[in-house]
Amino acid sequence: MSEQGKVHLVTGGSRGIGRSIALALASAGDVVYFNHYDPDDSAADETIGLLEDAGVEAFGQKFDVTDAGQVQAWVKEAFEAQGRIDNLINNAGITMDGLLVRMSPEQFNQVIQVNLVGVFYCTQAAAKLMMKQRFGSIVSLASIAGQIGNPGQANYAASKAGVIALTKTAAKELATRGVRVNAVAPGFIETDMVNTIPEKLQEAMKAMIPMGRAGQPEDVADVVAFLCSDAARYVTGQVIAINGGMMM
Ligand code: NAP
Repeated sequence: MSEQGKVHLVTGGSRGIGRSIALALASAGDVVYFNHYDPDDSAADETIGLLEDAGVEAFGQKFDVTDAGQVQAWVKEAFEAQGRIDNLINNAGITMDGLLVRMSPEQFNQVIQVNLVGVFYCTQAAAKLMMKQRFGSIVSLASIAGQIGNPGQANYAASKAGVIALTKTAAKELATRGVRVNAVAPGFIETDMVNTIPEKLQEAMKAMIPMGRAGQPEDVADVVAFLCSDAARYVTGQVIAINGGMMM
């Protein structure tokens, strides 16, 4: 690692928005640690290749963010190997959509576990080390659904509203230790996650976007990179909407 090299941790960095965030955050000489869940490593390997092409050292690991022990070991390993953690991006997330009256307890709990409890585990593990080193930035992926609700996503919307409250609380607790904590709330971003939505519904959602186009992973990644940069040094506890004007 070069003298200025930064260390970035990204959950769910194998594809979609997480991959774009890893690429936007890291410059040559930096180190990225990311995780993913799927036993198939091909997407993770592709992310590693893209990062290495940019001169970034990359480590991908397969584990579930709902496993507190694995999360703690991952964060500790990165810190012990690199001596610092500059940024944690809580990006891993899932959907298991269904109408409220038909939603099973498992469907509700699983989404809360990955999207909210996983964010708590990662944030807590990184915060302990960042507080000691007295610097660091944490950015979590919320969603427009967590701000205004969304039919069929009671579990997902609740998890993302929880991420917003967790972000604001962590920001208040960590501010005096030099650690900033923010969230971004994307609207409709073209990734595998939204590709599962029926085509007709996708078109209806796009029609609600004043800017007239769906978002791209890079649209989110650039804002996350800003929040982690020195340009955002006085920004903490904020939820930045990235939605083409869907909610104002
Ligand atoms: P995606 O394309 O489905 O990618 C999800 C990523 O999370 C993958 O890398 C996946 O790994 C990983 N992941 C899923 N479950 C995991 C677990 N239990 N442990 C560790 N990693 C796990 O999703 P995306 O659209 O990029 O979304 C990224 C984040 O943005 C999510 O938090 C999502 O809620 C949020 N968001 C997305 C949109 C949108 O329109 N796309 C809008 C608002 C917010 P594998 O590939 O190995 O499964």
